[in-house]
Amino acid sequence: MVLVGLREDAKTYVWSKKKACKEVGIESFEENLPEDSSEEEVVNVVGKFNDDPSVHGILVQLPLPKHINEERVLAAVNVEKDVDGFHPLNIGKLAMQGRSPLFVPCTPRGCIELLLRSNIDIKGKHAVVIGRSNIVGTPAAMLLQQHQATVSVVHSYTPNPAEITNRADIVIAAAGVAHLVRGDWIKPGAVVIDVGINLIEDPSAKKGYRLVGDVCFKEAVTKASAITPVPGGVGPMTIAMLLCNTLESAKRAFGISDQ
Ligand code: NAD
Repeated sequence: MVLVGLREDAKTYVWSKKKACKEVGIESFEENLPEDSSEEEVVNVVGKFNDDPSVHGILVQLPLPKHINEERVLAAVNVEKDVDGFHPLNIGKLAMQGRSPLFVPCTPRGCIELLLRSNIDIKGKHAVVIGRSNIVGTPAAMLLQQHQATVSVVHSYTPNPAEITNRADIVIAAAGVAHLVRGDWIKPGAVVIDVGINLIEDPSAKKGYRLVGDVCFKEAVTKASAITPVPGGVGPMTIAMLLCNTLESAKRAFGISDQ
């Protein structure tokens, strides 16, 4: 893990990833760089891990400080160790029909895995993705297309998103807006995957706040045929997919086939 000026909220993510690695026997270590590190220094650390044959996965914790060109750093990661799936080559292949990226970004892969393992058909279904970020919305939409869904993407400039989500068989919400998706956004029987992680004030909670998703669960659960909770839904899947990507990377490096 390459960490530059670790933010308070990122600490939890890093801790959960390290804990998960330990549980499954993947060794993890990090390079903590100060907030004011130069782009060159960050790229050099990435290069060091690229050259280390005992490393099979490199994570660059995002967002990077503003003075660092994120695109350059992500492109510096060896594409064969890009377990976050953010390298432009992996993203590019995800966008092309019939091409297989070496790695698919963990959160979108986790969403698809949830659908597949719940025996939910994706082929031919209308899926609506709320949000179009590089790390969740856009790769989720591309991945759904790879699985033969008809995909619509709504974002902050979409005039009436509910009109579109209302026609969806599958809704993936990744806007980062607490309780954006109300019950009347959901078609009866639709499948709802809530990626959002939002902190809201709650005086009755021990810490004075609690985590909620982008979906108003208590309303949507009355309409959906299946729905993921927050916390406990997509979050753990993201980490599980990171472990999968890393294991697959190590197998590839050692020439071990799935058989
Ligand atoms: P982002 O801020 O980079 O992107 C948000 C996207 O949502 C943008 O494309 C924006 O256009 C769209 N959007 C914002 N407001 C909207 C609105 N009112 N209606 C429709 N679209 C709207 O965020 P991100 O990094 O993609 O993350 C999205 C959410 O998912 C956040 O809550 C984040 O914490 C969470 N997240 C969860 C996991 C996980 O493992 N569960 C992983 C990554 C991100």
